[in-house]
Amino acid sequence: MEAEQELRQLSATISGCTDCRLHLSRKLAVPGEGPINAAVMFIGEGPGFHENEQGRPFVGAAGRFLEELLAGIGLTREQVFICNVVKCRPPGNRDPAPDEVDACSKYLEAQVRIVNPRIIVTLGRFSMARFFPGARISTIHGKARQIGGRTVLAMYHPAAALHQPSLRTQVEADFAVLSPLLAAARVAEEPAPYHTDPTQLNLF
Ligand code: URA
Repeated sequence: MEAEQELRQLSATISGCTDCRLHLSRKLAVPGEGPINAAVMFIGEGPGFHENEQGRPFVGAAGRFLEELLAGIGLTREQVFICNVVKCRPPGNRDPAPDEVDACSKYLEAQVRIVNPRIIVTLGRFSMARFFPGARISTIHGKARQIGGRTVLAMYHPAAALHQPSLRTQVEADFAVLSPLLAAARVAEEPAPYHTDPTQLNLF
């Protein structure tokens, strides 16, 4: 199956999922969105009020801040893949429960496999724990690690950073780390340069 079709089917499956209790209180599931060939995937925690209403990730205040941070490194949200650890809103924006995270992990794993991003940015503790079990965000944020052939970078959640000026400075600094990683990923994706060295051409 073509990747784009597989991703569409996965989103449809997520939208109808009843595998955990979160489906009982959701208005809309929030599968995630972005280009199939996105170089970067941002993984948040779970949908909040506005996301649950619209079925789209990061469309509230945290989303606006994320867009600002992206703009700061020359990106728009349309250029990156954005999704969450859990695809349905935990009631009252409570933390997702371990069994809810487990029930949803197959969807996140499928998204990572299909989109195959070179860089994953985890936003907040729950997303970080998928890739760095047992780690503390205060220790590892902003430090890129190679995991399973990808670069993974943990950051504080933009919603937390919105309310704490010190975290805001940290998130901005962590985005500055992302910029050169992206440039390196782009170079790695470019085809080998066409050989135009005239001394080489003379050989023919
Ligand atoms: N916070 C998240 O973690 N995800 C969203 O989609 C919105 C807010």
